[in-house]
Amino acid sequence: MFSNTIHALDHEIIDLTHAQNEDAIHWPTLPQYNFTILQRGFTDDLTGEKLWLEYNSFEMAEHSGTHMDAPCHFAQGALKVHEIPLKKLAGPGVIINVKSKVENNNNYRVAVSDIQDWENKYNKIPDGAVVFMNAGWSRNIPTRHLYSGVRTIKIPLRSYPGWHEDTVDWLLKNRNIHVIGGDTPSFDYGQTTTFPVHQLLGEYNIPGMENVANLDSIPESGSIIYVAAFKIYDGSGSPSRVFATVSGATNNWSSKCLIILMGIFYCLY
Ligand SMILES: [Zn+2]
Repeated sequence: MFSNTIHALDHEIIDLTHAQNEDAIHWPTLPQYNFTILQRGFTDDLTGEKLWLEYNSFEMAEHSGTHMDAPCHFAQGALKVHEIPLKKLAGPGVIINVKSKVENNNNYRVAVSDIQDWENKYNKIPDGAVVFMNAGWSRNIPTRHLYSGVRTIKIPLRSYPGWHEDTVDWLLKNRNIHVIGGDTPSFDYGQTTTFPVHQLLGEYNIPGMENVANLDSIPESGSIIYVAAFKIYDGSGSPSRVFATVSGATNNWSSKCLIILMGIFYCLY
């Protein structure tokens, strides 16, 4: 198995994506992910020699697993997947940690006070930020039966945290945000009937992210987050490889200790 973290130069690259499989979370009315093995075995090459060959096909809904919602998802005339400029799909990572608040309330919605708490700690949200809620929810994937009611569209049974529309409205009016999202199946919480956050992101032409993974592996401030969305023409959403880079020099304590020890030895000899 490969690690989810790659050390490259002085940066770590951290994968924030769930692997796509049949257990991927998707809206209950959408088609199931379907992976078909077309070839996996030895076959004859053009000269008759045996050659190992694998290839597959897959079918999936746009809104499945770790994915982006394009602004047009809930807003007629807003940007479709292929129209979103690449530079709008990256930016300084801002992680709003609401895990303690979610503990006793599966239907918690990120409040303006959560944003203020983050800014009191780390300063003003930087321009072009990618802002993710960390509700500690992604640990439930791939065992999606742990997602209360995610297989149903019946409101009383659907239950997971999301963003409060007043918070998103405040962010969009007062800060320059590139992307908003989180680690739950939807950035509108499970009990919503009107999807106001989806509508707001459409109105402001802001892409949203759902089912992001691994947010405990990056700092709440100081990363750069990238959303590598599959460029589906006219898409309303897109499966995405989401990852963050974190400066190794400031975040990797083993490297720091090694540099200090090497310095001491250099001085001694
Ligand atoms: Zn979606």
